[in-house]
Amino acid sequence: MEIIHTIAWMKEQARQARAENRIVGLVPTMGALHRGHLALIERAKRECSTVIASIFVNPKQFGPKEDFSKYPRTFESDKEKLEQAGVDSLLAPEAAEIYPQGFSSYVQVDGLSERLEGRSRPGHFRGVATVVMKLLQIVQPNFAYFGRKDAQQSRIITQMSRDLNLDSEIVVCPIVREPDGLAMSSRNAYLNAEERKAATVLHRALDAAKNELAAGVRDALQLQTTLRRKLDCERLATVDYAEIIDSESFEPVVRLSEPSYIVLAVFIGKTRLIDNLYIEPKAPGSDELLFHF
Ligand code: AMP
Repeated sequence: MEIIHTIAWMKEQARQARAENRIVGLVPTMGALHRGHLALIERAKRECSTVIASIFVNPKQFGPKEDFSKYPRTFESDKEKLEQAGVDSLLAPEAAEIYPQGFSSYVQVDGLSERLEGRSRPGHFRGVATVVMKLLQIVQPNFAYFGRKDAQQSRIITQMSRDLNLDSEIVVCPIVREPDGLAMSSRNAYLNAEERKAATVLHRALDAAKNELAAGVRDALQLQTTLRRKLDCERLATVDYAEIIDSESFEPVVRLSEPSYIVLAVFIGKTRLIDNLYIEPKAPGSDELLFHF
């Protein structure tokens, strides 16, 4: 696996791969890699002949009071994992390479970026969209892989790609979970033993809502009450939001009938965790539902 630090060399390598008619897949990450990231790499390996991963802890998507400086950085073990997974090139630029002196252009996806995560983390999605746009421009992959764990992020990137006529296809992959249901996340490393146990409440709340949906409940208020009741039982949990939203607009729904998400953001102690459940009718118009944890 080649480790690449400069944009110029990454562009050159990607250009060569395209010239050789290779199918190029890009997996952008912030490192501190876990099985969730590796599932994206595995998918890319199945679908592409050249797989490029990136590790860049993007300063522009962290708020001033967020965890940029203490975000877990485990470069040596990340490198090993990527090497073992068969990644061809790892792009690992310094911040000054991505944002040189005088950098002043940003990508803003209106509307979708202001809700939920965007409301709690102003400027977050502007930072995300900008860095992903840059990575897509640099590598120009056929496919770029993202996790549904960050459902709003994936939705915004898909919208950006559509709006700006990007050539890369955005592929959204399922959530990878721990055996007890906790969605894998680099931020789980912040949890102490007691918080780690408490953190399963996100999955437990989603599961309770799922059971109600399976029993025929479609009223969003009733589902929200169920979510809150579960989450409020956990002493270490403080809810930021728990909403039932349309999967395209990310606006709240009153009755669940179209493809939707139940989205959660919950502080466990000082650690902010997100999770979601994707729900869609089994067939168009059908009242039977499919659940994607
Ligand atoms: P991050 O390093 O947190 O920026 O994540 C890099 C990519 O991995 C994003 O597309 C995430 O949505 C995805 N990802 C993170 N956690 C998971 C998970 N548990 N399952 C699937 N994808 C994930």
